[in-house]
Amino acid sequence: MLTARQLAAPLALPKGLELTWLGTAGFKLSYQGTTIWIDPYVTRLSMTQLVTRRVVPSSTEALGRWIDKADAVLVGHTHFDHALDVPAIARRTGCKVYGSQSLQNLMALHGLGAQAVMVEPHRDLEVGPFKFHFVPSIHSKLQLGLGIPYSGELTCDHVDELTPQAYKCGQVWGIHIEVAGTRFYHQGSADLLEDEIKDRDVDIFLCGISGRRFTENYVARIVKALAPNVIVPTHYDNFFRSLDDKTEFSFNVNLTGFADEVRAASRDVPMHVLDIGVPCRSTG
Ligand SMILES: [Zn+2]
Repeated sequence: MLTARQLAAPLALPKGLELTWLGTAGFKLSYQGTTIWIDPYVTRLSMTQLVTRRVVPSSTEALGRWIDKADAVLVGHTHFDHALDVPAIARRTGCKVYGSQSLQNLMALHGLGAQAVMVEPHRDLEVGPFKFHFVPSIHSKLQLGLGIPYSGELTCDHVDELTPQAYKCGQVWGIHIEVAGTRFYHQGSADLLEDEIKDRDVDIFLCGISGRRFTENYVARIVKALAPNVIVPTHYDNFFRSLDDKTEFSFNVNLTGFADEVRAASRDVPMHVLDIGVPCRSTG
């Protein structure tokens, strides 16, 4: 069960820094007038649209409701629940987007290739007060552990071919972000390459937990590799439901089980659970 200490762990955010969870692995970070997003996904196509392989464009309504401004978008991999809305956000805001070759391909399909920055492993990048770098990683094996879903590169020739299944994974990244003296690590999918992680003792670990049961000892291994001060679990909401559908955001077995795994990995690492769409700020 979740312990009182795990739930009570405050997020020690510096004054002026705001962190908002957007559901799935999506986050917004704002500081000193600069706003960056990680894996923002607000269109939330339905299970029916997935199964019938519908080409679903970004929802203008959802973008208007959730994405106010953007100075940069960082993308961990190009599955639809991480990348579908990225071109539309770039078009609305003119911001640069950072990620893989697949992301570059996706942006080029939308005529926005010039706004895509193809990142190199561990190379430091900067946007306003944010410093970040991308760490090679891998995707969890969903579907009975048989393989990585929709693996390979996103290689469509036209936006009309962008079914949910066409959003292939591409290169997967962990993302290290430093701002106002606080270090974040974002892992959008539940697997890792230990040898690539050089960022120990991070302050806040944004930990994707979907699919982790197919990754051997995921929690213990990544907690050991990052030695975080606090873990924020992500990607456990039902992303086939609208972001406004609050009933899907209650605790579930998956999240409770995760808390147990964290406690088994290290009794000292507390967990902080965010509410979707509610900004977290300094309490000091
Ligand atoms: Zn994925």
